[in-house]
Amino acid sequence: MIANIEMFFDFKNSKEYISSYSSEKVDDNKIRIKTTYPKKQELGNFLLDFMNTEFNDHIDFTIFVKDYLFIHLLSLYDNTIVGDMNNYSVVLNREYLQDFIDWIYDELSLDFSMLKIRLEQVFTNSYYKNILNVTDILDKDYDMIEELAEKENNYSAINTLLEENNTLFINYNLNTFFLNNMPENLSANYTFSSDSVESFLYCIVKELISNIKNIKFECCKNCNYWFIHTKNKEQQYCNDLYTDTKTCFEIAKEERDKKNEKDDIYLQKCRKRYKNLHKQVSIGASEKVERLFERYKEQMPKYIEQYKSGLISGEELMDWLECMKVCTTIKRKQ
Ligand SMILES: [Zn+2]
Repeated sequence: MIANIEMFFDFKNSKEYISSYSSEKVDDNKIRIKTTYPKKQELGNFLLDFMNTEFNDHIDFTIFVKDYLFIHLLSLYDNTIVGDMNNYSVVLNREYLQDFIDWIYDELSLDFSMLKIRLEQVFTNSYYKNILNVTDILDKDYDMIEELAEKENNYSAINTLLEENNTLFINYNLNTFFLNNMPENLSANYTFSSDSVESFLYCIVKELISNIKNIKFECCKNCNYWFIHTKNKEQQYCNDLYTDTKTCFEIAKEERDKKNEKDDIYLQKCRKRYKNLHKQVSIGASEKVERLFERYKEQMPKYIEQYKSGLISGEELMDWLECMKVCTTIKRKQ
């Protein structure tokens, strides 16, 4: 029998609980896998972890399986190994485990990669458009696909995909899922489960779309990871840490500021004046110029900061710059 993957959505508290297992070492050659309390995490994490896994990378794929799908895939690999689905405890030896992990990679890496691509197409509302691109105009389904492609927006593909792949079950026995230790204040009284990762993912997307107003799935332009947000405007960068201290969003903002600065005509003029004065001083200008350069170096950061934060306008910055000129008045001979 195939072990289902099971999920409880707690929309009120923005959490999800997913069926889970624990592993412990029996001896140097064996580990025991057994049922454990469902894993609680931020809503949407399972989906995002799936979207952010490289399934053609052996290690990345194995991490995802260990986090979420171990028992489900083990029961696919060997349908006699897990007896009682609700309260299993199996002992595996190292060799068996290695064969199983290799089998997962060989059998499923392509399927999961394809599934990821289909979900990407749903999130970018290009699922039917992509099918249309590879459909012959004489194909009997061409008109239907064309119509779907035209109407494609707001993740419309997911509804059909879920219908086509529906092997979902609804379970009202929360006590079994939560091992007789139910959290308080849950916002629903059922879980969803499936014996197919595909149906399970489509169900998650459908549930998130139906229950979270304004939800959007986007791929960060900096780190390339998928993220979820509910802002009105499109978000190009995620709020996850990219370096030790900065998120992708902060990095992108800094880059944008730098670029704006490069293009800003007023700041360009300030920089030009600086270079100019520096050049004059370095080739031995008069004391007057040297004094002016010192004053310029002292005042420039303050004025530029005020300009960048909008306290003074570009015109006002230019007024200041005008005072930073060497006034050479040539007295005409009378
Ligand atoms: Zn990012």
